[in-house]
Amino acid sequence: MYKPMLEKLRSFFSQKHTLPYSFRKEQLLKLKEALLRYENRFYESLYTDLRKSPEEVWVTETGMVLSELRFTLRHLKQWMEPEAASTNLLNFPSRSRIVKEPLGVTLIVAPWNYPLQLLINPLIGAMAAGNCVVLKPSELAPATSAVMAEMIKETFAPEYILCVEGEGKTILPEMLSQFRFDHIFFTGSPAVGKIIYSMAAAQLTPVTLELGGKSPCVIERDANLKVAARRIALTKFSNAGQMCVAPDYVLVHVSVYERFLQTMSGVIKDFFGEDARKSYDYGRIVNAKHFERLEKYLNEGTVFAGGEKDKSDLYIAPTLLTGITPGASVMQEEIFGPILPVIPFREKEEAMAVIQQHPDPLAFYVFTSDRTKEKEWIEAVPSGGACVNNAALHVTNHYLPFGGRGNSGIGRYHGKFSFDTFSHIKAVMKTPVWFDPRFKYPGFRGKLKWFKKMIR
Ligand code: NAD
Repeated sequence: MYKPMLEKLRSFFSQKHTLPYSFRKEQLLKLKEALLRYENRFYESLYTDLRKSPEEVWVTETGMVLSELRFTLRHLKQWMEPEAASTNLLNFPSRSRIVKEPLGVTLIVAPWNYPLQLLINPLIGAMAAGNCVVLKPSELAPATSAVMAEMIKETFAPEYILCVEGEGKTILPEMLSQFRFDHIFFTGSPAVGKIIYSMAAAQLTPVTLELGGKSPCVIERDANLKVAARRIALTKFSNAGQMCVAPDYVLVHVSVYERFLQTMSGVIKDFFGEDARKSYDYGRIVNAKHFERLEKYLNEGTVFAGGEKDKSDLYIAPTLLTGITPGASVMQEEIFGPILPVIPFREKEEAMAVIQQHPDPLAFYVFTSDRTKEKEWIEAVPSGGACVNNAALHVTNHYLPFGGRGNSGIGRYHGKFSFDTFSHIKAVMKTPVWFDPRFKYPGFRGKLKWFKKMIR
């Protein structure tokens, strides 16, 4: 059923419509206008799906992608220029260059937690690099999925950018059995990432996998606790903790453990009031299934702060959980909700033993005022990205790559990294014909010592 539609994209791409800078710029400007035209519709849909306020939507969804768009438009011409490369002695007097070619027809699959940002941000990179794109938004944020599909349909020719709504587990296997994409960019869980990866492997389709996992956060004894608590609370309880780079759990040096807990619960009250349920700034859990999954975690330790819940409203209060029971699932699975286990440690090795149960997290955070400790921690924990004295905000810097490693994903994007991800980096060498010594051709007998001089 999808094949005829998808072949139209292939044909549009083959006709080289997407190649010129002028086309890419014009289409990116159309996207910008569309996002601004739909701004209010997105405030409504994201409130419906996740109870996000317009301010939160601007910071984490619409504003973030508009900022990425402006950045891309500003640099695109330069990114598209071939890069001069040096040439080695063997190839003298050739000249070398690196050319960025579009990949072709690409597929972008997004999750529900930042349904707009995580679909449109990669789209910007794919368009900038001159590709045709199929978009598959998450069915679990249905209001936003519908508005995005309408916006895309109204703004772009379907043979250039096509949005296909619905359930990933039915649509994607069918689509991928009928059509070979030139790249798949997937954001979601490691479990579904593996399914996508194996379907892509069958066709040797390259992938970018932006996955999740348990991102640890360490508080050293010399950390500024007030600042640490505020920065952790900001990201852990934004979107009710349903953020891939939210601190999943906190390991606190035992000497400041009690003080950190007190500070953190004070910050939660300061941010969301005595009853976070009434807070303008506090979101809701996406659906009943996720609510039930999170609810169970509350029984796996002692609730130090929060713990209130209401299924009818999909509400779970910002919660600090201590005294986690050994083997608890809250420390085995990605939490992806507003529950923060706070665990004391004495020696670094003790904290490392917890972190190493889930290697290669998407992000790692350390709060310390000691430069040596900062360096030691960053080196000790291999992770997709990291922050020192901050949490999650590295993802908002266009100059930094965003991506995981190992279990948290493959590849990277944002800013120029997006452009490169959606480009083929092609080597081109041009060799003049005026210099063509007979020496380099057969017979080779007796030339070994010369070859050893030239190739080393
Ligand atoms: P998910 O993996 O369940 O779904 C993601 C997408 O895959 C959706 O569009 C869905 O329709 C599709 N899908 C689901 N099951 C499928 C199947 N069997 N076959 C093919 N496609 C299928 O993820 P989610 O629940 O939407 O999002 C939460 C996860 O995403 C968390 O693990 C989180 O950490 C991760 N995440 C990662 C990032 C990142 O940038 N690294 C960002 C946000 C979320």
